Amino acid sequence: MQRLQDQVAIVTGAASGIGRGIAHLMAREGARIAIADLALPAAEATVADFAAEGLMAMPVAIDVSDEAAVEAGVAAVLAAWGRIDILVSNAGIQIVHPLHEFPLAEWRKMLAIHLDGAFLATRACLKPMYAAGRGSIVYIGSVHSKEASVLKAPYVTAKHGLVGLSKVVAKEGAAHGVRANVVCPGFVRTPLVEKQIPEQAKALGITEEQVIRDVMLKETVDGEFTTFEDVAEAVLFFAAAGSNAMTGQSLIVSHGWCME
Ligand code: NAD
Repeated sequence: MQRLQDQVAIVTGAASGIGRGIAHLMAREGARIAIADLALPAAEATVADFAAEGLMAMPVAIDVSDEAAVEAGVAAVLAAWGRIDILVSNAGIQIVHPLHEFPLAEWRKMLAIHLDGAFLATRACLKPMYAAGRGSIVYIGSVHSKEASVLKAPYVTAKHGLVGLSKVVAKEGAAHGVRANVVCPGFVRTPLVEKQIPEQAKALGITEEQVIRDVMLKETVDGEFTTFEDVAEAVLFFAAAGSNAMTGQSLIVSHGWCME
């Protein structure tokens, strides 16, 4: 028995990195997956790769910070498959600057993608979920949902914000059978992180090896990166019925980078 048999999931930012890993595991567990991403060619390539394995997915061109695009994307999934059981709100970017010189436009862009994006996708999915009386929403937070780091003011702010949003969805959604939880990964070697390594080295005046060892992995218990699979398993746990008693919770998956 597959854990997500006959279910429909939307995963934002699923054309790359962590989102793609989550989408792949969910598809292997029987779900049909909407690969909702800004990068349509990469979303289409992901769908083609999944189809080659016999997995069902559809590409959806979406900028999560654009209200009309999110509404249209969710409507397209409903038109194709008639239901939405799971939302994984994952799309994200990273911009780093010291706080005292963080440009306002870049601060706003970060909050628009991470917070407006999560809100808009949530709101659009809650309507069909409430109508069906069921749903599970999983936000991809970060160890930065719990702890701060230098250079990442809007990222840390937004990732903390997702914890608050998940708790509101948990309270309001309970009467409609909807749960919401947050998965908080440590560092995973995705394109987003590969881009950060030289940027942080330059900003901090240290080598790339030092960024990896002394910034990204220093707080872990074993010096290991978190993997796509580690994150995807935690998301699957929250998405599937086995976690029915859990809502408004955060699960940290970080090799002990963050403990609470
Ligand atoms: P990634 O760059 O590999 O993938 C991000 C995906 O999001 C890309 O496909 C991109 O096209 C898409 N995207 C970006 N902006 C978008 C928008 N406005 N609308 C729709 N799609 C958009 O990054 P990743 O490392 O896989 O990050 C995914 C999520 O995981 C992010 O929320 C990130 O903050 C979080 N996260 C990453 C790490 C890490 O170490 N990589 C750790 C903790 C949390």
